[in-house]
Amino acid sequence: MTQTVYESTVVYLPSRIRAAAIYCSDGRVGEQFDEFLQNGLSLPRYDRVALPGGPACLAGHPQVHLEEKGVVDELDFLVKVHGLERIVLIAHENCAFYTERLDLKDRRLELVQRADLVRAAAYARRVTGLDVVQGYFARIAGERIRFESVEV
Ligand SMILES: [Zn+2]
Repeated sequence: MTQTVYESTVVYLPSRIRAAAIYCSDGRVGEQFDEFLQNGLSLPRYDRVALPGGPACLAGHPQVHLEEKGVVDELDFLVKVHGLERIVLIAHENCAFYTERLDLKDRRLELVQRADLVRAAAYARRVTGLDVVQGYFARIAGERIRFESVEV
C-alpha cells in the first residue's frame, strides 16, 4: 500500500503552455525566475530546463559539451512531445558557473554572459527550428532581482 505524505495546494491543470525556460539551477534565484516567467511573461506551467549556468551550455564552451548534448536532446523532446513554440533564456548576475567553471571575473563577466545569450539563442533556433527565442539578464539589486531584456 502507498501512503500519501503530502498533498500540494497548487491546482493541477493538464493543458500545456508550449513554452520552456532554460536557466541556472541556483536555488537562490529559482523563485524569482518562476515569478518572472509566470507573472512577468504570463507563462504559467512553463517547462523548466535548469542546470548550472543555464543557457551557457548552448554557447559553445568546451567545458560543457556533455551538458550541451543533454539540453539539445531535451529541447528536441519538448518540441516533439510538448509542442514547444517558445524558449526563454535567462542568465543571472554573479553566476558561479561563470566565475568558477569558466573562471571569468569582474566587468568582463556580464559581457560574456550577454554574448552567450545571443549565441545560445541562435543555436536553440537552429536545433529546434523555432523562431521565438528570447533572452533576459537577471540583475541583483539589493534584496531584489530585476530582469532586463537582451536582444538575441
Ligand atoms: Zn548561476
